[in-house]
Amino acid sequence: MDCVVVGGGVAGLQAALTIRQRSPEKSVTLVDTEKEIGYYRPLLPQFMNQTLPEKKLFFWRAKDDSQMKVLSGVRVDSVDRSNRCLYLDNRQIVHYQRLLIATGGKPVVPAVCEQAYCSGIYPVRSLAQARAARDWLPDHPEIVILGGGLVGVKMAAHLSGFNFSVTLIEKEDHLLPQALSAEAAQRIQVHLESKNIRLLLGSTVEDVEASGNAVQAVLVDDRWIPCQTLFIAIGSTPDLNLLKDSNLLQDGQLKVTSALQTQDTHIFGAGDAVTIVRNDTFTPWTWPQAVVQGQLAARNLLASSPVSLNSLSRVNCMNLNGLSLAILGSPVPGAQRKRFSRPDSSVYRELFHRDGKIVGGALIGDISNGGCLHTLMNTGGSFKSDLDDIAKPKLQSFSTSSTSCKKFRRRARLS
Ligand SMILES: Cc1cc2nc3c(=O)[nH]c(=O)nc-3n(C[C@H](O)[C@H](O)[C@H](O)COP(=O)(O)OP(=O)(O)OC[C@H]3O[C@@H](n4cnc5c(N)ncnc54)[C@H](O)[C@@H]3O)c2cc1C
Repeated sequence: MDCVVVGGGVAGLQAALTIRQRSPEKSVTLVDTEKEIGYYRPLLPQFMNQTLPEKKLFFWRAKDDSQMKVLSGVRVDSVDRSNRCLYLDNRQIVHYQRLLIATGGKPVVPAVCEQAYCSGIYPVRSLAQARAARDWLPDHPEIVILGGGLVGVKMAAHLSGFNFSVTLIEKEDHLLPQALSAEAAQRIQVHLESKNIRLLLGSTVEDVEASGNAVQAVLVDDRWIPCQTLFIAIGSTPDLNLLKDSNLLQDGQLKVTSALQTQDTHIFGAGDAVTIVRNDTFTPWTWPQAVVQGQLAARNLLASSPVSLNSLSRVNCMNLNGLSLAILGSPVPGAQRKRFSRPDSSVYRELFHRDGKIVGGALIGDISNGGCLHTLMNTGGSFKSDLDDIAKPKLQSFSTSSTSCKKFRRRARLS
C-alpha cells in the first residue's frame, strides 16, 4: 500500500514514523514545503535569541530512515481524488492509496503589515523565517511583537534581556485571552513586566512606517513606536489551499471525525490543519495534540476499523523564561472556580469545575500535580477531596481521592 503524508510538521512526521514502525513493508512518502523537517517548532523563540543552537532544534533527520521517501522543499499544489494522486509544484505527480493531510497552519498577517513591503517583519512559524530573524535581530534590537497569545508571549519572554527592547501588543484587555482568565493572565503580565517588557493591551498596530526599505516604527493608539523588528504572532489558519478543488472542504475547513477520517475514507487529517467534529467542533491546535493525532491517524489509515481520539484537551506546559505555566483548559463560562494564590509570589492556580468534575484551569508558578489534574480532567473523574486542597500545590490528600489518578501514578512508575 502506498501511504502519502502531506506536511512534515510534528503531526505528519509522527504519522510517517508510526507507519514505518507498524508496517515496514508499506511505502511511505512525506512531502513538505520546508527544506528541513524534524525540528521542534515550539523552541523557535529560544533559537532566535541564540540560546539554543540549531542542531538542538532537531529531533529527527531524513537520513535517520533511508526507507522513508522524503520530498522536502516541495509544495503539493492540488489533490486529484478521482485518480488518487497529488500534483506537486515541481510538476511531479505522486500516487497514493492512503493519504494524510497534515499541512498545519499558516500565520495570519494583517493587511497593514503585509502591505508594508519592507524588511524586518517576521511572521513566526517556519525555521526559514526564524533563521532570517535570528540574523537580523542583533543589529535591530527595538522589537515589537504583535499578538499576546501563546506564541507572542513566548517570543516576548525569550527575547527579553539580550539588550533588546521588547513591546508586546495584544488587542484584548489581557494576555493569553483564549487560554487564561484575566486574574491568571495578570500573573503572566507582572512576570513579563519584571523582565522590562512593555505591554500594550487593548491595542493593535494601525500602520507601519519604513525607512530605507526597513521597518522603522508602528502606529499604536495614535502614537508612533520605534520598531526595527516586527514579529507577527496573532494566530494561524489551516493551510488548505491544496484542497480547494477537492470537494473535501466544508465552509473552508477540513472536517474530520474523531477517528481523524475525512469524508473520503482513503484520506485522513491531523494537527493544526483539521477541525474535529464530535457533537461539537474542536480545534485543539497544540503540539501535544499534533503528536497524538499524527500517531492515531497513521494507525487508523492502516486499520479496517478506525478508533477515536481519546482526548481533545489543549493541555500545555511551558517555561516562560523563569515562570512555569501549565494550561489545563480555557476558562469555562458558567463553571465554578477554585483559586489558590500566594500574593507574595507568582504562584497562582485556578481550577474550573462543574458537577464535581474539573473542566479547565491553569497552574502558574507551581505546576505540581498538573499531570494528575490533567488525567482527572481528561477521564472525567469526580474528585472527592476538598476543593481547596485540590487547588493547592503538592497535595497529599488529592492522590487518594481519584481512581484515575492512581492509575496515572502507577503508569508513571512503570514507564
Ligand atoms: C513559535 C511557536 C511556538 C509554539 N509553542 C507552542 C507550545 O509551547 N506549546 C504548544 O502546544 N504549541 C506551540 N506551538 C504550536 C505548535 O507548534 C503547533 O500546534 C504544531 O506545530 C502543529 O503541528 P502540525 O504538524 O499540525 O503543523 P505544522 O507544524 O504547521 O506543520 C505543517 C507542515 O506542513 C507543511 N505544508 C503546508 N502546506 C503544504 C503543502 N501544500 N505541501 C507540502 N507541505 C505543506 C508546512 O511547511 C509545515 O512544515 C508553537 C508554534 C510556534 C510557531
